[in-house]
Amino acid sequence: MLQQTTVKTVENKLKSFLKDFPDFNSYKNKNLSDVLNSWSGLGYYKRAENLFNSVEIINKKYNGKLPSEISQLLTLPGIGNYTANSVLAIAFNKKAFPIDVNIRRLLTRLTGRAFNDKELAKILELILKNKKSYRNFTESMMDFSSSICKKNSPLCESCTFKLFCGSAFQEFKAIRKSKPNIKKIDFFILKNKTSFCFIQKPNFQFYQNFLHLPSNLDSIFISGINLKKKTKIKKFKYSITNNRYEVQVFFAEIKKIKNKKIIWIDESKLPKIALPSLFKKILI
Ligand code: SF4
Repeated sequence: MLQQTTVKTVENKLKSFLKDFPDFNSYKNKNLSDVLNSWSGLGYYKRAENLFNSVEIINKKYNGKLPSEISQLLTLPGIGNYTANSVLAIAFNKKAFPIDVNIRRLLTRLTGRAFNDKELAKILELILKNKKSYRNFTESMMDFSSSICKKNSPLCESCTFKLFCGSAFQEFKAIRKSKPNIKKIDFFILKNKTSFCFIQKPNFQFYQNFLHLPSNLDSIFISGINLKKKTKIKKFKYSITNNRYEVQVFFAEIKKIKNKKIIWIDESKLPKIALPSLFKKILI
């Protein structure tokens, strides 16, 4: 999430999401759009969908308790090896070695060699001699690496391992990111009296499970509407995962056309429907 937005924004949004959905029980009698509505602003909406589907399985199959076996965790939507091992180590303090980017970097630098995940897990098992706390071990390895053995400028002078580390005092230059390819996209706020036009199965499909505002990518739909009196009302830049957009927003009053592809939503209902932050930014 932090790739898309700031720590502060994630912190605030996450707090408010956890207020709405504090435990597995709170998902009962709620549907996916309730979860998406509360998640709005955190991005990565597929994760909200996976969370919703996982909680449904946990409530039905595991009586509302998070399973603590890796084979069970791996059957939950969106949970792969890394997440399952993190849950085991951090939530259950069970023997498990999640390998994240920080742990991989630390071990690679210490040994001066690249290993696969299985080999890294073996090394971690050897390092954790006292076998006391898998939770503390995992969290301390992650934190040590992210705060001392940093990606670009490791703090070797203050590092406990500097005397035998295979990469101590080496220079790690930041890899220059290539210039993002900025795509242009126009969205249309089409209004009839107090209703707004949304499109189903749009060609701009970054947000599954959400209603979409029509865009210039919906060329067949847009070409059938009289947009002679449209006005440009906004222009801004927006990122979705690794995609950068230059967004233009046009407004037009149109006749209430009937079309299987569209839904009219009254403005009084807008605050209640789940909308990703891009569409909120366009509409507000
Ligand atoms: S000595 Fe430097 S490169 Fe080696 S583990 Fe410590 S911080 Fe990382």
